[in-house]
Amino acid sequence: MKLAIIGTGYVGLVTGACFAEMGHHVTCVDIDQTKMANLRQGVIPIYEPGLKPLVLNNVEQQRLFFSGDLVEAVQAAEVVFIAVGTPPGEDGSADLGHVLGVAAEIGRCLQEYKVIVTKSTVPVGTADRVRAAIDRELARRGVVDVALDVVSNPEFLKEGAAVEDFMKPDRIVVGVDSDRARQVMRDLYKDFCRNHDRIIFMGARDAEMTKYASNSMLATKISFMNEVANLCDRVGVDVEKVRLGIGADSRIGYSFIYPGCGYGGSCFPKDIRALIHTSRENGLEPTLLNAVHQRNEAQKYVLFQKIIDRFGKDLHGLVFGLWGLAFKPGTDDIREAPARVLIQELLGAGARVVAYDPEALAAARREFPAEWFAAGGLTLARNQYEALDQVDALALVTEWKPFRHPDFNAMKNMMKAPVIFDGRNQYDPETLKDEGFEYFGIGRR
Ligand code: NAD
Repeated sequence: MKLAIIGTGYVGLVTGACFAEMGHHVTCVDIDQTKMANLRQGVIPIYEPGLKPLVLNNVEQQRLFFSGDLVEAVQAAEVVFIAVGTPPGEDGSADLGHVLGVAAEIGRCLQEYKVIVTKSTVPVGTADRVRAAIDRELARRGVVDVALDVVSNPEFLKEGAAVEDFMKPDRIVVGVDSDRARQVMRDLYKDFCRNHDRIIFMGARDAEMTKYASNSMLATKISFMNEVANLCDRVGVDVEKVRLGIGADSRIGYSFIYPGCGYGGSCFPKDIRALIHTSRENGLEPTLLNAVHQRNEAQKYVLFQKIIDRFGKDLHGLVFGLWGLAFKPGTDDIREAPARVLIQELLGAGARVVAYDPEALAAARREFPAEWFAAGGLTLARNQYEALDQVDALALVTEWKPFRHPDFNAMKNMMKAPVIFDGRNQYDPETLKDEGFEYFGIGRR
């Protein structure tokens, strides 16, 4: 099939590359011309395991193309995916400017039947608004005889395992009202679930809500566990024991109950805020979602609180090593990452920070405020041990695998004092004590 993917970010690029791998002819479009030029040269703008070889191979095989020309890509395609960003607006609502802008562009060039698919995460009712935006442009052109279907197909991939998730999805949710579009979507996705059918068809509004409910459920589990961990800290209980104890209940399960210093990224925080907004807009005060969001905002300060409890409020003259800038392992994405909050607070209290991340250093250099670097407050280390030279303590913020078994002896010799603030409960407090470290975890007594 011939496909156009509008928006070549984390979702668009992975979607395009995976469909191309299945033999489809895919053109990825973006307004960022530098990104497109780089992609044509084989420069992949994001870090995602397995993505680079997939892109390079499909470009070489002439199944995957990168273009700045939306009109050409749309006119050649049978199915058009909209995968542009839906950033949070001032009031927390999802900003649909990019999505509806693309819909209008499609309406301005549509000449024959196509299936238009919203893959971006969008509030209930957006498929109707996309259709209306296209129809408006068709009417303006005086075109009355072009049929089209708008389908909602939210994406559930996880950054850090995006290719794997797209290739082997738990489920494929398709919100569609027409038989013709349902058949097209089935044809497109059947190769991704050959062993058993994992396509769940529903209405477009149901699909839109499913995506928000899914992310909100996962965020709820995390915030719940963070609250339990904070209580464990106060009552002298080890949350790791509690985690094992409750996770063994098959009704609860082990996933998404790791306590830590908060969730981040481009999805959970914004999607929770958007659902809160939708809820209020419809006259329902979302008490649970509010609490999930508030717990997470506060959780991002928990490590800093532990640091000032230990060192006092004035951190002038102190240096902190920081491991992990990405919002989670396996990605270079630092959007809404807890590390940002910790760095900002440490610098604000007068400390200096030396940070290291296996993949997110370039993103940090690009996106963190210039004044953090200019004043010499924040420096980026080339490896995890360089971030420990003469530091007063280490804060671990992202649980990258290489941080799991570091050389504790070497660390003690490099650090001014052997103090670890473990924001992801990566280490066993007893072991660290035996190694001669002062250890602070999340809910570890
Ligand atoms: P992103 O910011 O990485 O990429 C969006 C891309 O769209 C950018 O490259 C931008 O230049 C491009 N763009 C914006 N306006 C455009 C236009 N008019 N024409 C062409 N290109 C345009 O965003 P993302 O992380 O890929 O997320 C995209 C959507 O998918 C969002 O709604 C997000 O919530 C959702 N989503 C993201 C993830 C994830 O893990 N990142 C997972 C599931 C769903």
